[in-house]
Amino acid sequence: MINPKLLRQFAVEPGSEVSLKDYVTDWTETDEAKELGKDVIKERAAEILAESRKQLSEAQELLYASDTHSVLIVLQAMDAAGKDGTIRHVMSGVNPQGCQVFSFKKPSAEELDHNFLWRYMKSLPERGRIGIFNRSYYEDVLVVKVHPEWLGPGSPAKPDKSFWEKRYEDINNFEKHLSRNGTLILKFFLHVSKKEQKKRFLERLTNPEKHWKFSEADLEEREHWKSYRKAFEDAISATCTKKSPWWIVPADRKYVARAIVADVIVTAIQDLGLKYPKVSDEKLARLAEARAKLEGGKNDDDDETP
Ligand code: ATP
Ligand code: MG
Repeated sequence: MINPKLLRQFAVEPGSEVSLKDYVTDWTETDEAKELGKDVIKERAAEILAESRKQLSEAQELLYASDTHSVLIVLQAMDAAGKDGTIRHVMSGVNPQGCQVFSFKKPSAEELDHNFLWRYMKSLPERGRIGIFNRSYYEDVLVVKVHPEWLGPGSPAKPDKSFWEKRYEDINNFEKHLSRNGTLILKFFLHVSKKEQKKRFLERLTNPEKHWKFSEADLEEREHWKSYRKAFEDAISATCTKKSPWWIVPADRKYVARAIVADVIVTAIQDLGLKYPKVSDEKLARLAEARAKLEGGKNDDDDETP
């Protein structure tokens, strides 16, 4: 496990005014990390990830058995921050039946004809399951805040401050509703630097096996870096609550980001204090009966297959 004190620096304080420059993108560059050295950190991060995966698999089983809660993990980031890789690495040990991933792209015409939360509402995890939103309803206060022309029919051409404030309020109410109904919500912003994004785009442009990952739109959006940053700061500040917290995860080093995300998820599920359902005395008696019947069975040879 990561030292909880160390982890706290990535947790956003509910109600605080977030300034992304206060959060590191490369944790290995901090004084505390420099003392340890990059190799030690990389090794330790791998151990934490492996340990967390095992614990997550156990926690997921318990989540399924107790059938009282669901978990919603929201992942947001600038392009190439590592959302896909984080999902792949963190969830790799979890029973696929207990976990679902939804990736949200540009909304369809049908989706735009509904309220902005509609398509997300339909994709929420049911009780006992972990649901991952790879992008989410936060896009509706991020990408469209940078590009209001993508808001869709029925929206104002030039949305003002109160338009966005109402959306934050809608999101807060939506999350409150989910949380009251047994959903544990964890929101991660993978915080990558502009320099690191450039490196990753160049890798996509240079390595033939990564060409497919590059989209010209990525470069266009990079031009709006500052506006995205501001949109993220506003959205995170307005929607970080005790029940539905944001984590700003340093993402310039993939192994650091993955270890942090995995650790936060495991700890939060463990903190729910779930228990395997207790079997009633009546059911126990029936189980004993069934066992006696099975053990005393005389017709084991009835099977007609040779
Ligand atoms: P990758 O990291 O592999 O590029 P991605 O999540 O960026 O994955 P893409 O298909 O490249 O996936 O991009 C999805 C696009 O859909 C993003 O540019 C995102 O901003 C956009 N999008 C998502 N939700 C909305 C929304 N509600 N309104 C407008 N655009 C949206
Ligand atoms: Mg993309």
